[in-house]
Amino acid sequence: MAEAFEGDAYCVKCKAKKSPIDRRVEEKNGRRMGKGKCPDCGTTVVRILGKA
Ligand SMILES: [Zn+2]
Repeated sequence: MAEAFEGDAYCVKCKAKKSPIDRRVEEKNGRRMGKGKCPDCGTTVVRILGKA
């Protein structure tokens, strides 16, 4: 089941918050993380979503 997340994520390359493209949600160690790509440089950006 595809799940998206909302909000911005920090791009370490641009050193700025971006609205990621290609969003998806992954679960790791009981924590949910939003992953996407920076629209400007394509770097993977991560947003911690907290507990499921
Ligand atoms: Zn970037």
